[in-house]
Amino acid sequence: MTSLEPTRPEVEAWLDAVSRQVLDHIERLAEIPSVGAAGGMVLGDVSSHSLPIPETPTRGFDALLKHVMRAAELSINAAGPGYLAYIPGGGLLTAGVADLIANWVNRYTGVNAAAPAFCRLEADVIAWLATQFGYGPSARGLLTSGGSLANFSAIVAARHRKLGSDGDYRDARVYTSTQAHHSVAKSVSLAGIPAKNVVAVPTDDRLRLRPDAFEDMLVRDAGARLRPFLLVSAAGTTNTGAVDPLAALSDVCERHGVWHHVDGAYGGAFALCETGRARLQGIDRADSVTFDPHKGMFLPYGTGCLLVRDGDALRAAHRADAPYLQDFRDDAGLPPSPTEYGPELSRDFRGLRVWLSLQLHGAAAFRAALEEKLQLAQTLAAAIRALPSLELVDEPQLSVVPFRPRRRENEPLEAWSARTAALCKAINERGNVYMSTTRLPHPEGDVVTVRPCVLSFRTHTEQIAMAIDDITAAAGC
Ligand SMILES: *Cc1c(COP(=O)(O)O)cnc(C)c1O
Repeated sequence: MTSLEPTRPEVEAWLDAVSRQVLDHIERLAEIPSVGAAGGMVLGDVSSHSLPIPETPTRGFDALLKHVMRAAELSINAAGPGYLAYIPGGGLLTAGVADLIANWVNRYTGVNAAAPAFCRLEADVIAWLATQFGYGPSARGLLTSGGSLANFSAIVAARHRKLGSDGDYRDARVYTSTQAHHSVAKSVSLAGIPAKNVVAVPTDDRLRLRPDAFEDMLVRDAGARLRPFLLVSAAGTTNTGAVDPLAALSDVCERHGVWHHVDGAYGGAFALCETGRARLQGIDRADSVTFDPHKGMFLPYGTGCLLVRDGDALRAAHRADAPYLQDFRDDAGLPPSPTEYGPELSRDFRGLRVWLSLQLHGAAAFRAALEEKLQLAQTLAAAIRALPSLELVDEPQLSVVPFRPRRRENEPLEAWSARTAALCKAINERGNVYMSTTRLPHPEGDVVTVRPCVLSFRTHTEQIAMAIDDITAAAGC
C-alpha cells in the first residue's frame, strides 16, 4: 500500500478480518485467565513485541492485526467477566462502532457551528444525563477523557466562580476526605492551587466524610483569614465505595458559600438505577458532579463526564476567544460549543459513543445492569459474612465489597496484612476472577484489605458464584 487513501476492497477486507478476529477474542474473554497473560509475563515478552516503524510497509494487515491481538493478550484481562479489580471499565461493542463512524467521517465537534447537528447529539446526551442527576435546565456539562479531567475542570470552575482569576490562590482551601481519589489533589495542584492547601477531613466508621468535622475545620480556617472555597466529596470512594453524606455536606457548603463538587467517577452512574439513586440521595444539590461513563456506563476507556448545575460557571472558567475563530458565528439556537466548557479545542467526538449506545440499547438496559451490579455485590457480601475465618469490613455501600481474614490474637499488623495479600493472590491464581487490594485505616495503622468491585457489564451471577468458591477455597473454609 502506497497511497494514504486505501481502496474500498482493501478497507472491506480489513473490516472483515477485524470482525472475525476481534469478535473471536471477545467470545473467548471468559476463557482467558482474568489475570491475563500479564500474570506470568516476563519483561522479554513485551520488549520482543515491538516492531520497527518501516519506511515502506513490510507487513500486511493480517500480520499486524495478529500482532495487535497478541498485545491484548499480554495484559490484565480487564474486559473479561471475571475482572473485579480496581474499578472495572466497560467496552460496549456498540460504542466501538460509534467511534469507527465518528473517526471515519471525522467532523469537527469542538465548535458548534462546524458540526451543529453532531454537537446537538452530544448536547442531548449531556442534557439527558443532567436530568438523571436531578439537575435543571441551566445545567451544562462536558464529556472528558475521564474522571481525572472532569475533576480538574470542576475545580477550575469552582475556583473561577468563588475566587476569581487573579492568580493568587495561596490562601485558598479545598476540603476532601482522607479517602478521596488522588486525582483530586493532583487536579488542585494543576489548577494552580498549592497541593498543601488540600485539607483532609476525617471519616466516620464507614469511611464517609464527616460533615461536623468538615464544618469545624472550615470555620477554623475562615477565622484564620484563609479562603475555603471548595469541598470535593465522594459518591463512591475507590477504596470501599463509601458514599459521603451528600445532603448534609451540601447544607454545610450552602451555609458557608463553598462550592460542593461530588466525585462520582466510580459511583455516580448508579444514579441511573432506582436502588442506586436512593443511596446517592442529595447528589442533585451538589454544584457539580464527575462521573465516568467508561466505568458505570460500560463505555470504552476515554469517556468521562462533568455536569455542572449552573452551566454558566463552567463556561465562564473555560471560554476563550481567538481572531482565527471569528468566522464561526455565535448563532443563537445552536447547541453549546464543547470548547467553551473545557480545556480542549480539537477533540474526538465522544458524544456519539454515548448517544449510539443509549439509542441502540435504551436507557432501561443500563439501569437494569446497574441494579444487577448492586445485587451481585450484596450476594458476594452475604457469602463472605457467612465464612467464619473472614471479616466483611463494610456492607457494600455500592458495589465494592471490602474483606480480609479475621485477625488472630496478638497478630502483628504487618503479619495480618501479609496474610490478606496472600489470600488475594491465592484467589487470583485460580484464574476465574481477579481482585485487587488496598490499605484501609485501622486504629493501629493501615491494613491491607481485599476489595473486589463488581462493575463490568459482563459480570453476572456465574462469576460471582466462582468468586465465592474461590474465596472459600483460598480462605481454607
Ligand atoms: C476512577 C476514579 C477517578 C479517576 O478517573 P479516571 O477516569 O481514571 O481519570 C477519580 N475518582 C474516583 C472516585 C475514581 O474511582
